[in-house]
Amino acid sequence: MIATESKIDEFIQKCKTNALSVTPQRLAIYKALIADKSHPNPETIYNNIKPDFPTISLATVYKTLETFEKHGIISVVTPLHETVRYDAEMKQHHHIVCVKCKKVMDINDPVLENIKIPEKVKRGNQVLDYTIQFNIVCSECRNK
Ligand SMILES: [Zn+2]
Ligand SMILES: [Zn+2]
Repeated sequence: MIATESKIDEFIQKCKTNALSVTPQRLAIYKALIADKSHPNPETIYNNIKPDFPTISLATVYKTLETFEKHGIISVVTPLHETVRYDAEMKQHHHIVCVKCKKVMDINDPVLENIKIPEKVKRGNQVLDYTIQFNIVCSECRNK
């Protein structure tokens, strides 16, 4: 898949820029994150790579994700979760979050890209980007 490959190239590039060595473990953690569209938490990533890296510890996965985040390689999806959830998509995009099952889905829609930014936000400030979050009860949870 080309999209995945270019994300990995980007990852390797960013590691170089930040003087982080691209170890097989780091690469596996990043790959597990981009493969999982649900914005996984460290435990999920850990469970996904454990078969290939039986000696890796959960603490290492936590630390590695924190390191990536600190260097702007990935970001944290903030609210509603007891455990931290990560996102490999660094371009501006928005989220739909189910308040029941806590699943996080990406949404991109022209309507959300062209919102009128309130004067209060703009006044004296430089607006870099913004994230809109829709809190929902998803259809699966509604049908339970
Ligand atoms: Zn749900
Ligand atoms: Zn996202």
